[in-house]
Amino acid sequence: MKIDGRTRPAGIIGWPVGHSLSPAMHNAAYEDLGLNWVYLPLPVADQAGLVRVVDAIRSLPFVGFNVTMPFKQAMLELCDEVAMFAQMAGAVNTVHCVDGKLIGYNTDGRGLLEALEEEAGFSPEGKRVAVIGAGGAAGAACVGFVLGKVERMTVVNRSMDKAEELLSRFERYLRGVEAHAAVLGPEAEEAVRNADLVVNATPLGMKADDPSPVPTEWLHPGQVVCDMIYHPRTTPLLDAAGTVGATAVGGLGMLVAQGALAIDIWSEAAQTRAPREVMRAAAEDAIAALESEGEGDR
Ligand code: NAP
Repeated sequence: MKIDGRTRPAGIIGWPVGHSLSPAMHNAAYEDLGLNWVYLPLPVADQAGLVRVVDAIRSLPFVGFNVTMPFKQAMLELCDEVAMFAQMAGAVNTVHCVDGKLIGYNTDGRGLLEALEEEAGFSPEGKRVAVIGAGGAAGAACVGFVLGKVERMTVVNRSMDKAEELLSRFERYLRGVEAHAAVLGPEAEEAVRNADLVVNATPLGMKADDPSPVPTEWLHPGQVVCDMIYHPRTTPLLDAAGTVGATAVGGLGMLVAQGALAIDIWSEAAQTRAPREVMRAAAEDAIAALESEGEGDR
């Protein structure tokens, strides 16, 4: 990588970001595409810091930046414009800097759909889906499913309030999609058993002793079971899917696709398509490096 007076920065704002795979993925893509950009970790500890850093970015030649936990929701309020996908998701994970203005996007939902198509041949139209979790990632997944015209979408969460609040953002856009909220119990069981696709959008599975977010008995062959978690590479849910003969999809493909879609937005050139395979290889190398250091990427 050659940095000179015309290099444009990009980066990831979050806390912590020390184990983020995004710098490795993005910098590999920029090199492959011949872009004079550099992607930096931008650790920001709190909301006040977020406001200061975002303000400073307006005065710098940033091409754009990503936002991760815990600031995806807060970033909504700091953008000058927010794309409809991000408004519906209730979270911004990608910001494009255009002439000092910050335009917010959410590429997680489209990233998830791209990975499901690529890795499981899954397309959402007319399908029944169960999303476990009701945070930012679940919201982004629901955007993808509503726009992809699923038949039925059930949001299963430990707190009903958050699941209902998530679905309330979609009321105007459902156009025939049947949407339900449920807590873990008989209604959730029915939804998961009848789902063509089950997606874990909770952090359950990141820690070594975490249980699966749904019981193995609720899963069956013919289903696609996706865990958004990408490290560890396997999780109790993915193990359960394997045990029953369902198609298991980990979260790395989604991570790569959401990052690639950010580059596609920032590069503004319709003919540029970020190199997913280069980014995936860089992310896998970064995970291997973390594993050899005995570190967990969360
Ligand atoms: P978030 O906004 O904090 O939401 C987390 C959700 O999980 C909430 O609905 C929460 O329930 C639920 N939850 C948390 N701990 C739980 C537990 N112990 N048992 C049951 N439910 C629990 O987080 P997020 O940004 O949506 O991210 C969720 C996961 O997706 C994370 O693991 C993240 O790494 C992953 N992710 C992956 C990608 C990717 O590209 N692969 C992209 C985005 C996110 P309450 O509402 O009751 O609090």
